[in-house]
Order: sequence, then structure tokens, then C-alpha cells
Amino acid sequence: MSKGKVYLVGSGPGDVGLITVKGYELVRQADVILYDHLMPMELLQLAREDAEVISVGKFASKHTMSQERINALLIEKAADNKVVVRLKGGDPFVFGRGGEEVEACAEAGVDFEIIPGITSALSAPTYAGIPPTHRDFTANIAIVTGHRRDEKELEIPNAGTIVFLMGVANIQKIIDSLLKAGWSPQAKIAAVENGTRYNQRVITGTLENFVRTVRQEKLGTPAIFIVGKVVGLHEKLNWFGRKPRVLVLGTHPEKYTHLGTIVHRPMVKCVGLEDCSQLEKALEQLETFNWLIFTSANGAKYFFDRLKCKGLDARAIASMKVAAIGKTTAKRLTAFGIVADLVPERESSAGLLEEFGALDMMNKKVLLPQARVASEELPEGLAGLGAVVEEIAVYETVEIEPADVDLEHIDKILFTSGSTARAFVKKFGQVPAHIKAYCLGEPTQASAKKHGIEAEIVPRKDD
Ligand code: SAH
Repeated sequence: MSKGKVYLVGSGPGDVGLITVKGYELVRQADVILYDHLMPMELLQLAREDAEVISVGKFASKHTMSQERINALLIEKAADNKVVVRLKGGDPFVFGRGGEEVEACAEAGVDFEIIPGITSALSAPTYAGIPPTHRDFTANIAIVTGHRRDEKELEIPNAGTIVFLMGVANIQKIIDSLLKAGWSPQAKIAAVENGTRYNQRVITGTLENFVRTVRQEKLGTPAIFIVGKVVGLHEKLNWFGRKPRVLVLGTHPEKYTHLGTIVHRPMVKCVGLEDCSQLEKALEQLETFNWLIFTSANGAKYFFDRLKCKGLDARAIASMKVAAIGKTTAKRLTAFGIVADLVPERESSAGLLEEFGALDMMNKKVLLPQARVASEELPEGLAGLGAVVEEIAVYETVEIEPADVDLEHIDKILFTSGSTARAFVKKFGQVPAHIKAYCLGEPTQASAKKHGIEAEIVPRKDD
């Protein structure tokens, strides 16, 4: 049976966490992904490495691909036996022309499924602290397009709350139509630009002053408008607008959600080294070493990956004692069946050296798997204690070009390693004055400083 199928998936409004579990899994499995620009671009990082990822554009005015061409492409790829995920912003059936796309599939006899999404019409108000319905104010809501194909007046439904999509260019006409339909010039209105994204902006006013306000504020797209008494709750309930926004440049952004809204723009990634000759040599004489030291969780990962490639496991290092810098490294080691013998109180090379200072390290053989470019502080310090140190490079961090980020909308930056500080300065220059810089530990703090960045050590979740 052919597996070719089209999945029309709602990606949610912009906050990457607002896709459904079903949609998330499909993005990871897809052979082909067709996306447009309203969806969270971070989702594309989930795609399989060999997936074909196609942008079909669709900004209000500059369509990069016609609807007919998109429909044809969906059908062509599914007929070619591919699992095709068509990602659409918000919910695919709310003003997204999703209906037309699956109609085309149905007509062509292509199998399809539809995975609903969280529409911007409801979630942008929610993230602005504006409940679209509320017992005290309204019992109904209407969702209206602010953009009609013809130049006709807008039809204003009779509802207590009205949400307009696709209306930015048409705000004057929307307000005129509301007034004509009997709404008071003092009725409350809000615009939510980039709803649910880190750069969300909420602009409020009344029908009589709003056109001027949005012009002054240079309202951009995408945005929705909400009209009705519920807009009055924004100030009281503006929960998202009060959260600090944290730019995380390294990996594992989920570890830092206690700091605020995470904006993940990885600037570096770790890769295992192709050339393993150094490591292989050490592996042949593992029993001659007394200590094995891991300075990072990555060092641990790539070391044990190699062991596994050689058909070995934790038993190969049974004769050695193990030290780890940092709780994260120690925790990672437990995944490989290792409980570290020594985890220094202070999470740094200096902290580890201090504890080794109390031990007899004379002529002890130490194996130190680490990044290709690493600080000399630890090996030099160990040598100073009389140890014989074998440094082996098991991975390296390489810079990657981050997706765009608007620093105006960032409150904190977290540097997770010296390489993230270097990459940041190279791309953006110094950290702007309104942003508070944090780093993971002392070594990162020291290398940030070398790049001119004064950073505080980040408070931990479990402290
Ligand atoms: N299917 C989408 C809507 C597509 S029409 C959904 O369910 O959300 C495109 C319009 O959606 C835009 O003009 C804008 O009005 C609205 N929109 C989409 N994403 C938005 C966001 N993150 N913030 C505010 N409005 C958004």
C-alpha cells in the first residue's frame, strides 16, 4: 500500500510550544515539509536531516508560490509515496485556505488528514491577557476577516467581542464599519502584533483614536484586532507581556524556562570529531589510567559514544576513578552507568584543582576527554600537582548562523559557553545596555569577559 499522504497541520500561532503533540510528531517524521511564513520557524529544526523542506512563502503581498502550484506540489509529492506535512500558521481551517488544499487532494484521490492548530484568533488575545469571552462582558465572539477580495464594506456581525484577522492595512475601513454598525466611538479596541511570539506587542485604544495610535506605533503584520469590553482586562491580565524574554544561544533551552520566555537561537553546535586516533590509542591502554575527568556533558557523551562504537561500555573504565565538573556533567554520566567519585563544590577547573590538591596526584595518569579547543587551566594545574595528563579531543563546537532575532525585544541573554559569547559578539557586537547578560558558570563568565561582556552567573532551577 502506498504511504503517500498529505497531513495538513496547524502549527499554532508562533510560540513553538503551541503545536499539538500529533503535529509535532508528524513534523519529525515527514519526508517533505511545505511551510509558509506565519508558523514558528523553530519547528523546522525538528525535521529529519534528509527531509525536503520547501518554503511556499505567502506574505500578504508577495506570494512566493501560487495556491494552484502549492496544491499541485502536495499532490505530486504524495503520489511519489512521500509523507507530506503541510504546515500552516494557527489553525489550517481558519482563514488559511486549508480547505482548498485538501479539496484539491480529495479531487486527486490523494489520502489526507487534518491536524487542527491553535488559531491566532483565540491565542493572541489570550497572550495579551484578553479573554475573548467573559461572563461579565459578553456571551459571544465573532471572528471576521478584515480583508475582502472585493472592496465591499465589511459585514459586522452582532457579537460582544469581534476579532479581526488580516486587517492591518484595512484598519480605517474596519473602524468605519464598526461605527456604522452602531459601535460607540469610545468602544475599546486592541491590536496584538506577533501574538504569542517573544516580540508580541499589544496596542490599545478606542475606536475614535485608534487609527492615529496604530500609525504612531507603526503597527506591523501579523496582527489581530479585538474589539469589545473584554479589552479592558488587558492591563490586569497581561501575563505574557510581563515575562522577561531570554535569548538562549546554546543547547537545551528547556533548562532555563524559570528565567522567562525562552527565545532559542542556537549559535553553536557540538559535533563529534571524525579523527578518533587519539582516543583509540587511549582506549587500548585504559587500565593504565588512574583518573578520568569530564569537564562537560558533551565530553561525556562523545567519549561514551566512541566506547560504544568499539563495542565497549562502562566496564572498560572500571579501574579508573571518575571526576566531573558540574552537576549537569555528573547527571549525564549517570546515563552511562557512572556515578562520579568526585564532583567539586565549585563548578570550575579551579574548583576541581582545589579538591585534587588535597589528594596525592604525583605520577597519577589522568585521561581528559574534552573539546578540541579547550582551556589549558586544568591540564596545567594537574601537571603542577605531578600528574601525567593525556588530553584527548572528542568533539568540537562549530558556529552556526542563527535565525533572526530582534534584540529590542530581549531582556536577558544566557551564554552557555565561551563559544556562544564569541559567536554573539561576532554577529551582534556588544550586548546592548538594556539587556542583562548571564552565563552558566565561572569559565563561561571568564571567557565572556574576554569578549567584553560582563555577565552574572545564572540562578539555577533547583537552587
Ligand atoms: N490560520 C491562521 C490565520 C491565517 S490568516 C490562524 O488560525 O491563526 C493570517 C492572519 O492571521 C494574519 O493577517 C493575522 O491577522 C493573523 N495572525 C496569524 N498569526 C498571528 C500572530 N502570531 N499574531 C497576530 N496575528 C496573527
